[in-house]
Amino acid sequence: MGDLNGKTALVTGSSRGIGRSIAQRLAKDGALVAVHYGSNDTAAKETAESITTAGGRAFIVGAELGVLGDAEALFAAFDTELAASGAEPGLDILVNNAALNFPGRIDQVTPEEFDRTIAVNIKAPFFLAQHGLRRMRDGGRIINISSAVTSTAHPSQIAYSISKGGMDTLTLALAKDLGARGITVNTIAPGWVETDVTATRRATPEGRAALAAYSVFNRIGKPQDIADVAAFLASDDSRWITGQRFDVTGGSML
Ligand code: NDP
Repeated sequence: MGDLNGKTALVTGSSRGIGRSIAQRLAKDGALVAVHYGSNDTAAKETAESITTAGGRAFIVGAELGVLGDAEALFAAFDTELAASGAEPGLDILVNNAALNFPGRIDQVTPEEFDRTIAVNIKAPFFLAQHGLRRMRDGGRIINISSAVTSTAHPSQIAYSISKGGMDTLTLALAKDLGARGITVNTIAPGWVETDVTATRRATPEGRAALAAYSVFNRIGKPQDIADVAAFLASDDSRWITGQRFDVTGGSML
């Protein structure tokens, strides 16, 4: 176990993929982890069980993001489950990880898809930060999961890219605002990672090779590659770093 003993973390979208791995790593380092999901409660229970089986502590919180009142609903469930766990009220680490992607170029994206992308990927994290900060203890951490698409052009994912650009900007503004409380705010920008999102493209040897070729290490990222960086940013070791965007792409952008 690491140095997160006594800390409480909330990881949005930790039923699956990168979020699951971040939840598992923060719990391994000693944090009590709220495992959030949107609709897949079975997967969220699996994440929580994997944590408790390994000797960690976790509870699950369900809330659909991208709908009016989403942040209030999530934190109402968080407060209830936290109290039920017997832990002190409050939050130390918020990881804004949940997101969706409607691929499409400028002439393909519908207004509904655009609105949904913005609502889930940037409006929800904004209000989760707002509500989370009311609970966050001084010295806390906000970690926003962005994407490599904000540093190079990806016209075929234009709406998603815009929403992730918002995450980078949210990090910058919040970091300045929260310094007085000793709260750090940073962004992780992953490249291709082995999750459900890339499952179709990874299904053929050619598809796998194409994704792997982005990285100088010639492999696709694993969720743990992202989780380990999140653990550093959640820890005291990162106390002098705030407002930064970390390229965690295996050198894909070199
Ligand atoms: P997954 O699709 O594997 O998992 C998404 C998670 O977000 C799930 O837990 C899901 O919950 C939750 N979620 C999605 N939409 C909603 C919603 N409307 N309301 C509530 N919860 C929701 O994603 P990844 O693990 O691949 O991605 C995690 C993060 O990393 C995202 O921010 C993504 O943009 C970013 N990223 C991923 C890359 C990749 O290659 N995979 C590359 C670059 C960035 P449920 O299980 O209930 O559906």
